[in-house]
Amino acid sequence: MQWEIVIGLEVHVQLQTKSKIFSGASTSYGASPNTQACDVSIALPGVLPVMNREAAFLAVKFGLGIDAEINQRSIFARKNYFYPDLPKGYQISQFELPVVGKGKLEIKTSKGCKTIGITRAHLEEDAGKSLHEDFHGMTGIDLNRAGTPLLEIVSEPDMRSAEEAVAYLKQLHMLVRYLGISDGNMQEGSFRCDANVSVRPAGQKELGTRAELKNINSFRFVERAIGIEVERQIEVIEDGGDVVQETRLYDSDLDETRSMRSKEEAHDYRYFPDPDLPTMVLDDSFIESVRASLPELPHLRQTRFVSEFSLNDSDAEKLVHDRDAADYFEAVCNSSAADTKIVANWMNGELNSALNTAGLSIKDSPVNSDRFAELLDRITDNTISGKIAKEVFSLLWDSNKSVDEIIEEKGLKQITDSSAIESIVDQVLAENYDQVAQYKDGNQKVFGFFVGQVMKLSQGKANPKQVNELLRNKLD
Ligand code: ADP
Ligand code: MG
Repeated sequence: MQWEIVIGLEVHVQLQTKSKIFSGASTSYGASPNTQACDVSIALPGVLPVMNREAAFLAVKFGLGIDAEINQRSIFARKNYFYPDLPKGYQISQFELPVVGKGKLEIKTSKGCKTIGITRAHLEEDAGKSLHEDFHGMTGIDLNRAGTPLLEIVSEPDMRSAEEAVAYLKQLHMLVRYLGISDGNMQEGSFRCDANVSVRPAGQKELGTRAELKNINSFRFVERAIGIEVERQIEVIEDGGDVVQETRLYDSDLDETRSMRSKEEAHDYRYFPDPDLPTMVLDDSFIESVRASLPELPHLRQTRFVSEFSLNDSDAEKLVHDRDAADYFEAVCNSSAADTKIVANWMNGELNSALNTAGLSIKDSPVNSDRFAELLDRITDNTISGKIAKEVFSLLWDSNKSVDEIIEEKGLKQITDSSAIESIVDQVLAENYDQVAQYKDGNQKVFGFFVGQVMKLSQGKANPKQVNELLRNKLD
């Protein structure tokens, strides 16, 4: 039997606000346990939530970024459940009227482009954390995270493979960072994903019964977890059983999913509007102020990079992926005479690998866009060859000197004086009589050997084009 895979994703994004969604406590990550747990976070009797305006701003920014309906009136609801890291006994979330309605996100996979529907995105508060390590026979509770603003982004069940799910997540991850609404740090839990997975016989209209996979904290694990879960469900059905609707935990150590609990339905949570919070009303001028703060969206920027800088799609995509990299690229192109293709190659090549090795982001690059532009200019005006430029680049990386200072100091200037090159060429031909004879016998391959020898004798500084020309003149 042919099976079709169906996936819908729920992504929790921590919004980058200074303070919590309903109180003034700090949201910064990594403080000692409970130092950021104010009276609202620990749910002292009588305290009241006050909505954080910035959280609403960022939620709307996301909505505009996915071309979604914005609900100018939205309602906070209580989602009731008991858990030690939730001292109120309920989570404040949005249920019937979320702030962001239907929107969409375009993804790209090996099969081409596809639009994934986004059902809704709603604001809610994060819970605290249960700490199991360091507590023997007990569980510690840290309420620093309790009340951190979350945007829960719910997709339509539109994805048909693990590859599509990963592409969607990566696109979403890029977008939230681009918009500056979240740092997207997956290790710190700023970007978390639950995957709803089901299978159905190819051609069947109704959806199969789904399992919801929790605890997937990397793109790689999403792919793995979905893969194994799909295999499991197919096996259950082919063995004559039924998939049960449940929540399953992905265990990356054992590479398996296992049942956590049967799936709760909305009515289990006894949702009702929170009487402590009024309807959130966003007027037109608020929405317009959010719109005015939107950066150029990544897919539009990519198209512009292709037309304005004559890049191919794949270079443009790589550069646009990171907003800082895209800014860096534009800064270099605007101040350098170098070909934009060379700028892209150097950024995706030398610069990228140096940053990776040093574990730095482009913002903290020791070679800023000005010095990078200067370096590429010296290649363009033939002061140095591309090969020497790599040497200069690594010297730039470790010093504050300018490109010209380094070239001057190390005597790296390209030799373009043809009589100087000619004398090196003569020397090489005189010292390699055998190879000259081979060349004359028709062995074209030794030509590269001569070029190599000349470059070596000139310490890489001879202009390669002139070397080639002079050699051809003398040999042919
Ligand atoms: P909840 O998980 O709170 O019950 P929903 O019923 O709205 O919420 O579904 C949550 C997610 O599950 C959505 O992303 C939706 O696309 C996805 N989903 C719903 N039904 C299926 C299904 N049969 N197979 C795969 N995903 C599904
Ligand atoms: Mg769910």
